[in-house]
Amino acid sequence: MSTAGFNSQNGTSAGQAYTNGPSQNPLHQQQPGVGYAMPHQAPYNPMQAKAPLPQGPGLYPSGQYQPVPLASSYQPSIPLSSYSSVPGQPLLTRPPMGGPPSHTPPQSASPGPRLPSAQATPPPPAVSSGSYYPNPQQQQPMAPTWHSTAPPPAALSTTMNTLPRGPMGNHVNPAASSAMPPQSLSAYSSPSPAPVSHSVSQPPGPGMPPTSLHGYTQPGSAPPPMNPMVPHTYQPSRPAYGPPPSGPPPLMNPPPTGPPMGSATPPPPRADGPMAGNGPQASNSYNHVENKMAGPPQPGPPGRHLGHYPSLPPGYQNTSATLLHPTMQTTAQPYTQAPQPYQQPSGGPGPAQLSPSLAAMSLQSSTPEALRVVNLLQERNLLPPSPISAPTPCLPQDLQKINCHPEVFRSTLTSIPQTQSLLNKAKLPLGLLLHPFKDLSQLPVVTSSTIVRCRSCRTYINPFVSFLDQRRWKCNLCYRVNDVPEEFMYNPVSRSYGEPHKRPEVQNATIEFIAPSEYMLRPPQPAAYLFVLDVSHNALETGYLNVVCQSLLDNINELPGDSRTKVGFITFDSTIHFYNLQEGLSQPQMLIVSDIEDIFLPTPDSLLVNLNECKELVQDLLKSLPNLFEKTMETQSALGPALQAAFKLLSPTGGRMSVFQTQLPNLGVGALKSREDPNQRASAKDIQHLSPATDFYKKLALDCSGQQVAVDLFLLSSQYCDLASLGCISRYSAGSVYYYPSYHHQHNPAQVECFQKDLKRYVTRKIGFEAVMRIRCTKGLSIHTFHGNFFVRSTDLLSLPNVNPDAGFAVQMSIEENLDDMQVVSFQAALLYTSSKGERRIRVHTLCLPVVNSLSDIFASADVQAISGLLACMAVDRSVTASLSDARDAMTNAAIDSLTSYRQAVLSIPQPGLLAPACLRLFPLFILALLKQKAFRTGTSTKLDDRVFAMCQLKYQPLAYAMLMIHPAFYRVDDLTDKGALNINERTIPQPSLLQLSVEKLSREGAFLMDAGLMMYLWIGRNCNPSFLTQVLGVPTYAAIPDNLYLLPELDTAESQRTRAFISWLRDQRPFFPSLHVIRDESQLKVGFMQNMIEDRTESALSYYEFLLHLQQQVSK
Ligand SMILES: [Zn+2]
Repeated sequence: MSTAGFNSQNGTSAGQAYTNGPSQNPLHQQQPGVGYAMPHQAPYNPMQAKAPLPQGPGLYPSGQYQPVPLASSYQPSIPLSSYSSVPGQPLLTRPPMGGPPSHTPPQSASPGPRLPSAQATPPPPAVSSGSYYPNPQQQQPMAPTWHSTAPPPAALSTTMNTLPRGPMGNHVNPAASSAMPPQSLSAYSSPSPAPVSHSVSQPPGPGMPPTSLHGYTQPGSAPPPMNPMVPHTYQPSRPAYGPPPSGPPPLMNPPPTGPPMGSATPPPPRADGPMAGNGPQASNSYNHVENKMAGPPQPGPPGRHLGHYPSLPPGYQNTSATLLHPTMQTTAQPYTQAPQPYQQPSGGPGPAQLSPSLAAMSLQSSTPEALRVVNLLQERNLLPPSPISAPTPCLPQDLQKINCHPEVFRSTLTSIPQTQSLLNKAKLPLGLLLHPFKDLSQLPVVTSSTIVRCRSCRTYINPFVSFLDQRRWKCNLCYRVNDVPEEFMYNPVSRSYGEPHKRPEVQNATIEFIAPSEYMLRPPQPAAYLFVLDVSHNALETGYLNVVCQSLLDNINELPGDSRTKVGFITFDSTIHFYNLQEGLSQPQMLIVSDIEDIFLPTPDSLLVNLNECKELVQDLLKSLPNLFEKTMETQSALGPALQAAFKLLSPTGGRMSVFQTQLPNLGVGALKSREDPNQRASAKDIQHLSPATDFYKKLALDCSGQQVAVDLFLLSSQYCDLASLGCISRYSAGSVYYYPSYHHQHNPAQVECFQKDLKRYVTRKIGFEAVMRIRCTKGLSIHTFHGNFFVRSTDLLSLPNVNPDAGFAVQMSIEENLDDMQVVSFQAALLYTSSKGERRIRVHTLCLPVVNSLSDIFASADVQAISGLLACMAVDRSVTASLSDARDAMTNAAIDSLTSYRQAVLSIPQPGLLAPACLRLFPLFILALLKQKAFRTGTSTKLDDRVFAMCQLKYQPLAYAMLMIHPAFYRVDDLTDKGALNINERTIPQPSLLQLSVEKLSREGAFLMDAGLMMYLWIGRNCNPSFLTQVLGVPTYAAIPDNLYLLPELDTAESQRTRAFISWLRDQRPFFPSLHVIRDESQLKVGFMQNMIEDRTESALSYYEFLLHLQQQVSK
């Protein structure tokens, strides 16, 4: 008896396999590699001929192993207690001991037990810039806008005029022609040379070497005897073999042959190239203008502030205080509220049966509303009363009903142009935005021994394939006709036979498979967590260590994992400290390695231990760590060597490395120097040092990626830390970056709260290990640039050592071949990962979109939020590879070009004004918001690390959260009522109207909440309603509002409950915890609040209306 396994997404699947029987499906025999890195994928890789061919499984002997450093005679083991009693400096200055270990492994990151052979090792390419380009062979037809090297004129008007304007959808990397690194190809592409097509069968070879779970514990390298009496500081000399620690491993670092990094993924060249002009900001032109941010908001009739504007059309001045300003809160509709896409459809003919009827499909994409002409200069009430939701693709209802949810998979254009030239004419970017591992409330999980896939292109069967008859299905990506496996004829849901189109795989656009065991080449890796903690004086001063240790103590049983879960700890200052947590010890033992030039692991087998077996030791350590270093005076930071040590420790298993750093690393490899001149923050002609100062962190990240290690960086510092350099460690290893500027346990309680909440989420959230994600699309379309944190392994394959539910991705697409005879195209993202329970799983999302052949249909399908999100990603790349002013110009040009195209090609009758289709009416506002966003703004003092972090976030956050960073949501909250409130779990959640981001909306009598994504501001007017002060803030007067108020008191009043319920509900909508700051006119943070007033003029930036006038001037030319 077989059942469908519709389990929860975390499911320890109780569902049994479908009755596929023992007989081997012919398809199946070509699928050896669901195990690791999708080696069974079609080798859709033009660079293949250049790559050394994999030589089959023989290259991956499972039994081989690199000798571990044997240091038995040097094994000091010091009970922690002895340090607890002698905390501080003496601990760190013990005399060095002994000679070198006899078997220190080479420093090269690549040789690990998993990858014994050099050729079998598929290390990620290290330095060649072209290496990271996903589709090197592609000749991008046009990319003028983003690749223009012409320095833009400084003056605003001329800038717009002289820049070439290409279609935003075609920005490609100039480094595209560089070769893929051979090493990375060997393991992931077919051994046989194959044409660039979808028509190649998968390579039979394994993707990763079969390695037993315990393979890294080499026989003979038994833990050395402990000798607590031995002095415990290592100073080994150079090991007998192995390259010097600072030398790049030869395999990992092919000499750069291509042009400087240019793709979306590699760090671009230093921004010291030709300086471009200062872009359209033209700050000097407006210096004389009143800075509205300077003073308190002035109560008065609407329009009063418009006095400085050019004369306004009447409609524009007619602003209303109740204007709704819909934002991008699609997150407000979690899956719980829209479960249909993931519910098992009821009976009846499935959409897969309908494809013959597609021919009759009516693509009436010119819906009146989307194309309604809006004169932006006339209509200020542009926004619908409810938050913007993603546009619905114009598909037959039965297809759209089961299409992928836009929160997971979304396109900038919900209709795909038939040709590239048509796309070029529209001047809109074409790309996809993904949130592939999003927490879903309903996710069908299928346990099946036969995962049905196209024999040619390896597409997973999905709702948009067509069944020619019961026995044959046609792939919707490459159009090959495939046989329906016998097993697939049985529907375990309905328990009926002969209805393959009713299988869950063809009824759900998002589905997860549990890969059958025979697909496994080795046991999936255990969950492994390594914590790397800064314990310098500066670090202890911030008080962060207490929070980390307490959070881990509190949540240690919630760490995702199973009985195999491993944990380890490394601390560092000027030396590296390891912790022996081997089962049987009475207490943890600290081992100090002081030779940071030549890092080795003192007791490799007892540093990363089984959590269940050693939980008490781990808890002991967490309790004692903060005290252990309490009085340290060591100020230096050897982060680089600590990361090297951590990599050595984690590389045999793979896993997650969590790094906590509080200062600029200044010792050993990876040491950095400050590159920021605070005096230049506001006045610099262009922003320097957006690219890394060293490639150390990127190289190490690529080593980590090759060993399935992801590095998450927590940066807590009040000083410049060079996030542009440090962030590479996470970016290329598919990690996350958390940033808490000016963190201090006493001085910044709001950030402490944030840090605690973020840590809890971080420690307990779902995690996938050793993951890869491949994105396929219908023949004729191709992907050319990826955005996010990952390493691009081949043209369409992203390496994700870890994947987490909070990571977003974006890709840019181009149309390689005309889609003439197609009515629809499909995109499929397949994420293969190992769950924390040790299951190999594949999550598949398939999106289907119609093809159109008219410009008006393309414009009608524009998704303004997705377009803005993709443009933000592109602008980040452009800022680093070219210059910030280039990026700013390109964003402005995106608005000008698309509106020009719309005016010229779509509007048949000339009309005055600045005209936009209704679906793009917010485009200029979002572009202006981007220009004023921390990542891209100029003329305003912005810390370099703050800017770089904002850039990281724009590329990494899923669209819904990125949009809040771009255009914050703004509400009046002193008059909340229950009218229109939501009722969730018996909580009443008020739903105040969204307001435009302008001081016009402020009133001294009110209180206003601004939700800027990572931060919330609660602005209190000087004459604020007294009842709000007493009933919500708990203070008698405005003057009594304390500074640094970040928590609302829990008062037993209706007003307090409403306000707290609303803020809490907003926070619940996202995976990170936005801090709340109550601000008054006197507050320092008021500046940040006012800078988010996007529609207002600032000293250095245009108001919204001025920006519209500028656009109009350019569009009319
Ligand atoms: Zn196919």
